[in-house]
Amino acid sequence: MNYQMLIDEAFIARQKAYAPYSQFQVGASLLLKNGQIIHGCNIENAAYGSSMCAERNAVFQAYCQGYHKEDIVALAIVADCLPLISPCGACRQVLAELLDPSTPLLLGCKDYFEVTNIQELLPRAFTGENL
Ligand code: ZN
Repeated sequence: MNYQMLIDEAFIARQKAYAPYSQFQVGASLLLKNGQIIHGCNIENAAYGSSMCAERNAVFQAYCQGYHKEDIVALAIVADCLPLISPCGACRQVLAELLDPSTPLLLGCKDYFEVTNIQELLPRAFTGENL
């Protein structure tokens, strides 16, 4: 699977977003070493703080299915806008713990994406090693 295909999968996931308040739909797709793709989308709630981001939904879903960071090849996050979407602070904290620091993170829109990783997005992260 190439990166563009993973971006396309994230756009498929985005169609399932539940965003009646912001109308800001986000999709995520996570590629596992076994070739399986796991989708995530943002799910809002009238109590805004109870909402959940697409990328966290995808990673949590992977863990719920018994996979861990060593099983994850790449994670794509997309929205239909420029500048490119980027994980919020809470997601960065979660990704820093649940992904390898160098796992490719694809940030995409319809015709463009960039590749980064959580180490780049959250340098000097607070992790379990700090406890
Ligand atoms: Zn987030």
